[in-house]
Amino acid sequence: MEDIDKELERLSYQIKNCNKCPLHKNRKNAVPGEGNWKNKIMIIGEAPGFNEDEQGKPFVGKAGKLLNEFLSSIGKRRVDVFITNVVKCRPPNNRQPEEEEIRICTSLYLDKQIEFIKPKIIVCLGNVSANYIFKKFGLKFESMNKSHGKVFSVSNLFIQTKIIATYHPAAILRNQNLMAIAKSDWEIVKEIIDTI
Ligand code: URA
Repeated sequence: MEDIDKELERLSYQIKNCNKCPLHKNRKNAVPGEGNWKNKIMIIGEAPGFNEDEQGKPFVGKAGKLLNEFLSSIGKRRVDVFITNVVKCRPPNNRQPEEEEIRICTSLYLDKQIEFIKPKIIVCLGNVSANYIFKKFGLKFESMNKSHGKVFSVSNLFIQTKIIATYHPAAILRNQNLMAIAKSDWEIVKEIIDTI
């Protein structure tokens, strides 16, 4: 356990000092991720936005407030889960991270966070996250409309985990029609958590 704390801290330090892709040039703060990894629940978003870049913490803006509400609806607080992103530095003007940025950042950081934490549940927030995680675990991600709320069990030599994708809180804030769908996805997240 202590070793994992140390490994995650080491990764955090590397992330904060990373200059491996162009995103480091405009960042104020890299955002490694935070929370209690011991509960084995990982919530993975896309990339830091303005507020996250200011504070060096994931999901602290408006989307974060909505994420907190979803968590609280399933009886969890932020500190009960490990929250991070596919890429750790804010892309300029909140554009989507590019393929090469995702490749570099995940191979150095997210993949290792997953290896150390060995989550029993991974909740993917939005397309970028779901696209990356599904592919990584050999699953097919077609679109959020088709894949949200479905639970995929993955088991290999290194990890046994359940993966579920749901709409990104920022997408829900832009389109309130997604709210009811997302709420029912989070109920499914609760059901899976209750089984671990
Ligand atoms: N959107 C994300 O995908 N991640 C954050 O940390 C904040 C907003």
